[in-house]
Amino acid sequence: MTEHQLPQGFETLAIHAGQEADPQTGAVVTPIYQVSTYKQDGVGGLRNGYEYSRSANPTRTALEECLAALEGGARGLAFASGLAAEDTLLRTVLKPGDHIIIPNDAYGGTFRLFAKVLTRWGVEFSVANMQDLATVRAALRPNTRAVWVETPSNPLLGIADIAGLAEIAHSSDALLVVDNTFASPYLQQPLSLGGDVVVHSTTKYMGGHSDVVGGALVAADAGLGEEIAYHQNAMGAVSGPFDAWLVMRGIKTLAVRMDRHCSNAEKVVELLTAHPKVSEVLYPGLPSHPGHDIAAKQMKAFGGMVSFRVAAGEQAAVEVCNRAKLFTLGESLGGVESLIEHPGRMTHASVVGSALEVPSDLVRVSVGIEQIDDLLADLQQALG
Ligand SMILES: *Cc1c(COP(=O)(O)O)cnc(C)c1O
Repeated sequence: MTEHQLPQGFETLAIHAGQEADPQTGAVVTPIYQVSTYKQDGVGGLRNGYEYSRSANPTRTALEECLAALEGGARGLAFASGLAAEDTLLRTVLKPGDHIIIPNDAYGGTFRLFAKVLTRWGVEFSVANMQDLATVRAALRPNTRAVWVETPSNPLLGIADIAGLAEIAHSSDALLVVDNTFASPYLQQPLSLGGDVVVHSTTKYMGGHSDVVGGALVAADAGLGEEIAYHQNAMGAVSGPFDAWLVMRGIKTLAVRMDRHCSNAEKVVELLTAHPKVSEVLYPGLPSHPGHDIAAKQMKAFGGMVSFRVAAGEQAAVEVCNRAKLFTLGESLGGVESLIEHPGRMTHASVVGSALEVPSDLVRVSVGIEQIDDLLADLQQALG
């Protein structure tokens, strides 16, 4: 809820959407409502609709309204983690016997949720290359109820055509779900391209400071948003008020952080492409990247994630990770500090041996917003 009716830009919404000054105290920042229950004015007489914080909490509501505004959706919902958001969505829109198409380069935890949890619950899935629309169309079955895509994908930075996938999903009465974690709504707004639901791990760029685990869903349609909200309450994997507050605080600077993540990443890509020990750089901003033209069309800039392959192989790739100092060796991404990791042995260890296995000489960096010369010097020494 904004205080006036003028149309507002992304940076303004990030700071103000859902966050009017507190009506009682004038506090400019939405307080952390660290509370479980609310006094009722007579039996059933709720004040502002709040009765119990699993169902709704004012700090969470502020974040949820902000999320909906930033993605241009009808309803935003905040969860305890990205995977909690995914699980809630899937059990809202799928039932036993339904089929979903998932990407062959999905986030490892997303793949595990399908392969180890949802199949036991009777949901069928197929793995497809989302960069090849004909393959996705061929994977459709009469019982396909959803198509899932991540773009850019993790950790291979593949680019999928969101509008093309929406058309395919809708031809089969299926929803297009877009995991927008890598891009953030500042760089890409999937609902405006035909997506039905956006998924976020707010742990990453939205929170942006590596100090909170959270997830979000934004639905384009109010009816679907209401169904998900029902399941959010019924399943209970909600964001706590302090976590919601941290994500909201992070979002206020999303635009300026993303601008710097992107410009630093471009410099890192320049260094890596020219380096003799690097055999391949995966970054959608490179004109040689197979998804470059689509990325240029559907994204404002190309993001802060870069992956590369080390020419001398797996052991050399592991050593690059171990030698890095300013790039902290760790999982996760999207924080102000730069991180480096070996997907094959770390984030993607759970998909080794599956269709989602990643090259063993691959290194992934989350380029932070430190001084660029310091970052380049560290990568230079880590490459040896
Ligand atoms: C981290 C991540 C998730 C899972 O989110 P959690 O907050 O760790 O549960 C999902 N998708 C992508 C692309 C991610 O990077």
